[in-house]
Amino acid sequence: MKVKSLTGVLLAAILALSGCVGNVGTISEKKESPAVDDVQEETVVTEPESEPEQSAEVAGDETAEAEPEPEEEEEDEDEPEEEQGPPFSDSLEINTADGKSVAAFYALDTVISMTIYGPESENALKAAADLIDRLDRVISPQREGSELRILNENGNAICSDELIEAVSLGQEYGKATDGAFNIAIYPVVDAWGFFSGEYRVPEAEEIEELLTLARPEDVKEAERPSKEWSNGRRNSKLKKGIVFETEGMKIDLGGIGKGYIADKIALMFNEDYADGVTGAVISLGGNIICLGKKPEGKSFKVGLQDPGKAVGEYLAVITAATSSEGNLTPYSIVTSGNYERFFEVDGVKYTHIIDPETGYPVENGLASVTVTSDDSALADALTTALFVMGYDKAVEFWRSGTYDFEMALIDENGKLYLTEGLKDQVKSYVQTEIITR
Ligand code: ADP
Ligand code: MG
Repeated sequence: MKVKSLTGVLLAAILALSGCVGNVGTISEKKESPAVDDVQEETVVTEPESEPEQSAEVAGDETAEAEPEPEEEEEDEDEPEEEQGPPFSDSLEINTADGKSVAAFYALDTVISMTIYGPESENALKAAADLIDRLDRVISPQREGSELRILNENGNAICSDELIEAVSLGQEYGKATDGAFNIAIYPVVDAWGFFSGEYRVPEAEEIEELLTLARPEDVKEAERPSKEWSNGRRNSKLKKGIVFETEGMKIDLGGIGKGYIADKIALMFNEDYADGVTGAVISLGGNIICLGKKPEGKSFKVGLQDPGKAVGEYLAVITAATSSEGNLTPYSIVTSGNYERFFEVDGVKYTHIIDPETGYPVENGLASVTVTSDDSALADALTTALFVMGYDKAVEFWRSGTYDFEMALIDENGKLYLTEGLKDQVKSYVQTEIITR
């Protein structure tokens, strides 16, 4: 079996036209960095969700201290973990100069990088990092003590509003995409080894059986009793929670979580830093969110990784359509590729996006799907769903107008297809076709 061993493959590169190469934080430099110097521009590298081995690798370098281990404590088994210890952001190495703050670190099982402009850039960066850390303790499927993990282990749990909201968005996008996006696909993804890193090709019967658990409609919001102590007595109070109505089912927010968190950061910046931040570009793995503008009203630019080429070689550049008027308008660019996380057995490539219809990894001639939208959770879920749909259905879905988004599809021959809304925003270096309404 051949497992892809690159320490993560570049999905997209953010090009900020300021000529300060090498100012993007330690991780992208330590990892197999893209050829940033070639473009003579500062490039923040984004990575897709890393494989478990990669996590260990990255955590092993100097960024290890960036992720304090949550202290384990005995708690009610279905109570969300309490926050404790010094703030996550205390351990970050933040580079602040000339009204700009930059940091790169490991969280959400991936590489995060941030470049924030404005007089309050450093505080905003810290607040964003702390928000990421807090929400990671909610939606991470693997992290010890995370809300989602407790829910998956018990089939029911008291949940924070955020988990309930992310799940309900996942359910909505599942319905809207006719099941192509399926938050309950976890047991199947797990059977292929994508969570443990122990990759395998499951038997057809095993897949069939596990598919019977993939029922997102059986995830229900329900009140759960919370056994809290007060005045020396144990009260049974009802709190918001989630219950699985199919035994053994588990949910996976891997296809939407980073987008959901990006939206929360955008919201926080608009509420708390509207005066202190003028622009920001944040990359959560393959999820990039741009807010506002760079200095002098310049737009952020994001490079689209060429799926067939080395890390950092992009085949097109997208100009982020944020506005310089008023507040920090968000613009998300999210990519899912079949070249980033996969394994091979007997020359067959198995990627981490699963077709919920068959239980098998998607294989339909698409190499990557990029979605742009002002809604990052939507963009995230749609990259996964459109990937499952394949070219024809993806185009049909875009034309249906169900959601407001644009997309860039790259097929396995390296041809780029852009929906017409992106036409004037993309500079392409390869054969390109425009998809019209
Ligand atoms: P990445 O950032 O790794 O590209 P994606 O947004 O493409 O992530 O989502 C892939 C992740 O979503 C997988 O790692 C898996 O956990 C989960 N997943 C796989 N197939 C589906 C699906 N059909 N619907 C929803 N989630 C999926
Ligand atoms: Mg996704």
